[in-house]
Amino acid sequence: MSLRDAQRRIPPVHRFFSDPRIAAYETLLGHENVKSVVAAVLDRARGDGAIPDYDALSTVVLSDLSQEAAETLRPLINATGVLLHTNLGRAPISQTAWEAATESTTGYSNLEYDLAEGRRGSRYSRVSALLVELTGAQDAIVVNNCAAAVVLILDTFARAREVVIARNELIEIGGEFRLPDVFARSGAILVEVGAANKVYLRDFERALNANTALLFRSHLSNFRLSGFTERVSSADLAAFGARVGLPVVEDLGSGALIDFKRFGLPHERTVPEAVRDGVDLVAFSGDKLLAGPQAGIIVGKNAHIARLRENPLLRALRVDKVTIAVLQETLALYRSEDTLRKIPLFAMLSASLEDLHSRARRYVASLPFIEAVSAQSYVGGGTFPEASVPSVAIAVPDPAGNLHADLRGRTPPIVARLDAGRALLDLRTIAPHDDETVIEALKAQT
Ligand SMILES: *Cc1c(COP(=O)(O)O)cnc(C)c1O
Repeated sequence: MSLRDAQRRIPPVHRFFSDPRIAAYETLLGHENVKSVVAAVLDRARGDGAIPDYDALSTVVLSDLSQEAAETLRPLINATGVLLHTNLGRAPISQTAWEAATESTTGYSNLEYDLAEGRRGSRYSRVSALLVELTGAQDAIVVNNCAAAVVLILDTFARAREVVIARNELIEIGGEFRLPDVFARSGAILVEVGAANKVYLRDFERALNANTALLFRSHLSNFRLSGFTERVSSADLAAFGARVGLPVVEDLGSGALIDFKRFGLPHERTVPEAVRDGVDLVAFSGDKLLAGPQAGIIVGKNAHIARLRENPLLRALRVDKVTIAVLQETLALYRSEDTLRKIPLFAMLSASLEDLHSRARRYVASLPFIEAVSAQSYVGGGTFPEASVPSVAIAVPDPAGNLHADLRGRTPPIVARLDAGRALLDLRTIAPHDDETVIEALKAQT
């Protein structure tokens, strides 16, 4: 067959669009994108001079489309039971907060405009006022993430100067955040004191000299000290700092504004507690236990926050209006118990076992081959490493992990957990409005 004959027999583009497997990608990627993927595959076939065959070509088109779809940021169903999954975007943002933020972000806003005075204002003023109200601190500032907050603090107070930290708090939390490396990059001189297990206040006392700039305390994140151990409490360190005239900084990481004991979890130190302990600056994340957008928040004493505001580095670490708006609207939901439940993390943690069992019954009634089993959900995000929340999961036999992979390939993708030859789908992290979608997916895949 001549090349010409082969080209004539290349199937027309519309033939691909009448294929439901290919047309399904249109809602996800848009008509134009699908068309260009088809066109590229046809171009390659023409170039190869191969004999075009619809089945072979459509297989290549489908594989390219699925690759393209996997690379697009899109929603998925988190059935892992890990509530703050860093790979899945940590805390889902409250729909209420998002909608409220839409108005001030899709039009113009008073982001840096003082309406009363008719002149330039501060982009942090409103969100700072809310943070002051909710934490009891004197002032607050917001940057990109907690890592940026720590860098800003070290750069402002301790460039080429010494920062004293307990040896048993020099942690790495993963994702390239290792305290010793962050100190080095910030130009601060790290002075570690005490032993790997025990550190006393007198260890801090002995380390002081004229070049000491800060006393630093870090949350242990998902590292646990147990056995023969001793840490210096924040309250003691804060009192000592005040006595010797050195600011005390606490990297709290997780940043709970409320006590998580109400969800049956162990007590987790809150930001208001750190403020009450007298710590001068407290740094924490916006998208961990606070359950808002990615942000790094610093609350503390007026004079210290004022110095942070004057650092030109703040300009490079500043957050955009979308983050400010979503953070502000999320914080506003903390003002009452009713609105607090509009934050997905708290709605998920508040779901009773009874609620989860009754949802599980719908799954079991629709699908004969599955069972509802007891499970444990984890908070994640480096918080509560040893604690879990009882939950209910749907268990489906999946000895080779095929179902687990197929669920990931669906639209929307469903990310489950593999456990002893079964795919487990934890109902605590599946939104109730997604139950029907998950049931349909299980019906189709099994
Ligand atoms: C999570 C965490 C950080 C980093 O927070 P990001 O907002 O992800 O930058 C820093 N310190 C501690 C103790 C943490 O737990």
